Amino acid sequence: MFQFTFKNIEEQYKQVKELGYRFITCEEYVAKKKNKEIKDLTVVNRVDIDFSVKKTKRLIDIFNRLDIKTTFFLRLHAPEYNPFSFENYKIIKHLIDGGHELGYHSEIIDQAAIWKEDAEKCLLRDIDIINRMFNIEIKGVASHGGMTGLNNLDFWKNKKASDFGLLYEGYDHQPEFNLFQESFYVSDSEWTRWKAYNRGELLQDDRRSIAEHAKDKHSILHILIHPDSYFDNHFYESEK
Ligand SMILES: [Zn+2]
Repeated sequence: MFQFTFKNIEEQYKQVKELGYRFITCEEYVAKKKNKEIKDLTVVNRVDIDFSVKKTKRLIDIFNRLDIKTTFFLRLHAPEYNPFSFENYKIIKHLIDGGHELGYHSEIIDQAAIWKEDAEKCLLRDIDIINRMFNIEIKGVASHGGMTGLNNLDFWKNKKASDFGLLYEGYDHQPEFNLFQESFYVSDSEWTRWKAYNRGELLQDDRRSIAEHAKDKHSILHILIHPDSYFDNHFYESEK
């Protein structure tokens, strides 16, 4: 049976909820951490919109049905989608109106290399564009791992999110966030295989799903999924 269907991922999240976990966004995580309000069985739910805004709509619908607030990270320069196309803009507005968080899925090292522009200026300009386009103030960025051979996370090696008016970068080690290092992290970033890290350490060959991990009653569970990983029936169903 092919596991990575929209039907199955909805069932997975439903089971996590039934185990008593509460879902918060990355922005809420920063605020609650500051006020020492993080309770056991918290899920910080993250979605990276790598290739498809259209499929993101399916996840938004699932999360709205289950009343799960999520942080979505949007690319601005993907060859695969235009974030401001007529339909995609509507979907992103629908996401924001539903009370979810929108952050920026940054590719600033790639931009700097390909365009020969300054990475900091690219970051500030991209944030400004998202803010003005959707009339919001984004609080976080997460670095996209693309195919250029460069690592967009390298930008943050000697910089802090707060230097750019932000609360966090997805994998940052600042004590105000430091989520990856302080949580149990499960991701579908290998497309049709789950992988898990316990407080930043990879669990070799652990392919258990989010619902299976949730049964272990983790204090903070951090989930990252990608809309592109889900299908109605099988991996090869979509036509380009
Ligand atoms: Zn990505």
